Amino acid sequence: MGVETPTHTLEDLTRWQAPGKWLAIVGDPIAHSLSPVMHNAALSVLAQEQPEFADWRYVRFQIPAERLVEALPAFHAAGFVGLNLTLPHKVHAFSLVKEVLEEARPLGAVNTLRWTPQGYIGTNTDGHGLSKAVELSFGFSLGEREVVLFGAGGAARSIAVRALSEGCPRLWIGNRSKDRLEELQDVLRELGYGSRIRSFSFAELPADLPAEPLLINATSLGLKEQDPLPVSLAGFGSGTCCYDTTYGVINAWSRACAAHGFSYADGIGMLVWQGARSLEFWTGHPAPAQTMEAAARRALNRA
Ligand code: NDP
Repeated sequence: MGVETPTHTLEDLTRWQAPGKWLAIVGDPIAHSLSPVMHNAALSVLAQEQPEFADWRYVRFQIPAERLVEALPAFHAAGFVGLNLTLPHKVHAFSLVKEVLEEARPLGAVNTLRWTPQGYIGTNTDGHGLSKAVELSFGFSLGEREVVLFGAGGAARSIAVRALSEGCPRLWIGNRSKDRLEELQDVLRELGYGSRIRSFSFAELPADLPAEPLLINATSLGLKEQDPLPVSLAGFGSGTCCYDTTYGVINAWSRACAAHGFSYADGIGMLVWQGARSLEFWTGHPAPAQTMEAAARRALNRA
């Protein structure tokens, strides 16, 4: 099954009778998602050692925001073992599921659901994905460096909570809109992290930003080749590392990092490791992350 996996709809779900065990990614838009190719490659590997996974398949569903409320009970009735949620559903699903694991509660958003007879249990694997990706890309943990985070949306929230919970000594958060920045700061203060956070606006960079931090791009800037950077990176030292949650194009982040001599990693690692954690949550078995990454990168190169 490749990226050409068909895109299903709510109407398909109401008459879903295909044999086997089903997993799905649910979003809108969804046609571009690498998750089916990545998870089906992993399931093939798992099935070689554990025959119980031979009839597990992962598909994609395009469900508009306003129909999630009817879609989740329909997925449950059809017996879908696990779901991944992506834009625009992560926050809404949080309030619709039967239970949310403690680790995901401060985030107010879930990206992974597991079937139980009573309803879906939700969790969020994005922070784990970012943490593993940083460690494998740069050789240090999120807790070891000062972090400058760009963005204050859903991904930024998972990243901020994860970095602070891992012991990040200081986290600087910059965002375009003040409202979202303040909302994220309030969440982090409520969690007891107030003394380790600082904020800034893109229009006015503070003079005392760390010299060689871990920069993390969690804005949507970088999804397109021609997107600008939110701020100039020229003031940071050559030991700076930059983790970019976007992937798929050579963008201004990777170009600037090459120009300044910074280490740079794209968001595929985060995608792979959040997916691996989801798969483990559904199957109870370690996920073959290398297979998942190879499948995702192959599909990206074909697109
Ligand atoms: P949200 O919509 O929740 O947040 C978007 C963020 O981008 C906000 O901080 C927003 O700022 C900022 N932004 C959007 N447009 C601009 C712009 N023109 N200039 C400056 N800032 C802008 O989205 P998510 O948090 O879910 O996703 C953010 C990024 O993370 C996306 O690129 C997404 O693809 C990526 N991501 C990657 C994952 C992976 O596994 N690699 C997983 C999840 C997300 P404002 O508040 O001002 O609107």
